[in-house]
Amino acid sequence: MKFFKGLILMMFLGASVLMAKPTVYILATGGTIAGSADNALTGSYKSGAVNVDALISAVPQINEIANIKGEQIANIGSQAMNNETWLTLAKRANELLKQKDVAGIVVTHGTDTMEETAYFLNLVVKSDKPIVLVGAMRASTSMSADGPLNIYNAVNVAMDKASVGKGVLVVMNDEIHAAREVTKTITTAVNTFKSPNTGKIGTVNYGIVNYYMNSTRKHTKNSEFSINNISALPRVDIIFGHSEDTPDFVKTAVEKGAKGIVLAGVGNGNPYPSVEEALAEAAKAGVVVVRTSRTGSGSTSVGAEVDDAKLGFVTGDNLNAAKARVLLMVALTKTNDKDKIQKLYKEY
Ligand code: ASP
Repeated sequence: MKFFKGLILMMFLGASVLMAKPTVYILATGGTIAGSADNALTGSYKSGAVNVDALISAVPQINEIANIKGEQIANIGSQAMNNETWLTLAKRANELLKQKDVAGIVVTHGTDTMEETAYFLNLVVKSDKPIVLVGAMRASTSMSADGPLNIYNAVNVAMDKASVGKGVLVVMNDEIHAAREVTKTITTAVNTFKSPNTGKIGTVNYGIVNYYMNSTRKHTKNSEFSINNISALPRVDIIFGHSEDTPDFVKTAVEKGAKGIVLAGVGNGNPYPSVEEALAEAAKAGVVVVRTSRTGSGSTSVGAEVDDAKLGFVTGDNLNAAKARVLLMVALTKTNDKDKIQKLYKEY
């Protein structure tokens, strides 16, 4: 009799372990996904008007699949994203993912700078567990708001075992993108997120997750960067190249104390002649200068039309200027040796 009672107890415990729902944290930062308007058919709304509890209660289905916990990190339009919020978010993600019971994290975020935050977290969060950024192109009060299904999909991706070790992910419009690759490509459309150089890595359809590719670059757990003891990031400015350009912005960046400058150059990362001269002077003075392209895809080749070795420039591989800036800020917390930084652009 005792034996049977024990057996039944073990079966009960085993079943409840199997049935236990994974814990997923939703860290909310604002954006259109938390936006609200007076009317369902307007493109003008206030970003970051709805809090994390309201976001969660708009998608009750996520409570059926996961033990959902919400925290408000910020409530801003992501055009106002800043280093302080990045550091708070990354440190909180590091803490939470260390907890055994936490399966993954979903970060709700505005879409304007989502790619920068995603790549920053990809470089500094020390865990293999999934971190998924999600947003919306339509405010929560819009007709056909895209936020609720995006959140449902993001939670499914965050709790899926197949997402472990893939680095930080962005889930929007039924697609899964790697943080390093993804960029916003259309101002207002729901299919705005693309990975121009590599394509999406997976899909998520009403919660069903499928992966097709892995990123080959270092990220999260195997990243050498850590922000645990860092309370500020160095200033890095982006200079956007064009015809009849002026060196004034490079000079101002240096005067204002930039430790790095990223050029979003024309074509293969090319600067206007007077800009090239100003950048070479900046490099000589110890500012790390990284060339990228304003074209939106492709890699900026070393020494093609610009003599990088002679002028002291680094190239940003195929990162866009915004992401090359993120890597440079993080890299500068460790070194300002340009050869070492050039190597990092090949690894991350
Ligand atoms: N400006 C908004 C933001 O980035 C746009 C959005 O979320 O779609 O917060």
